[in-house]
Amino acid sequence: MTYPVHKTDAQWQAVLQEKGAEPAALQVTRYAATERPFTGKYEAHWADGSYHCICCGAKLFDSHTKFDAGCGWPSFSEAVPGAIQEIVDHSHGMVRTETVCAQCGAHLGHVFEDGPQPTGLRYCMNSASLDFEDK
Ligand SMILES: [Zn+2]
Repeated sequence: MTYPVHKTDAQWQAVLQEKGAEPAALQVTRYAATERPFTGKYEAHWADGSYHCICCGAKLFDSHTKFDAGCGWPSFSEAVPGAIQEIVDHSHGMVRTETVCAQCGAHLGHVFEDGPQPTGLRYCMNSASLDFEDK
């Protein structure tokens, strides 16, 4: 899979350090690791603004689509159109839908079909993959 934005691990690490990303950010975004629930900085973060890919800065979510799913990870009911690519994920003995940044391929989390109406979607994201921008 190739994406418009491509960098080596060392280059991504430099970008992440510059942005003050969480220590797990490289493992999460490039190797699909999952941060521990209730530990991410955006899990209980409700400010007005937008959430961007920590790697390439692409806008992924508006804060008004964020909701409290009680699962321990920041959850959104709707993504910015075209911002996210979905990939079927067979890891851990489950069939899930992985979500990655459409611009750089960064792993973001998974999307489930048990979210609130009208979308019925729950984008379950890692805080480490996100970068918040105040309105
Ligand atoms: Zn990205």
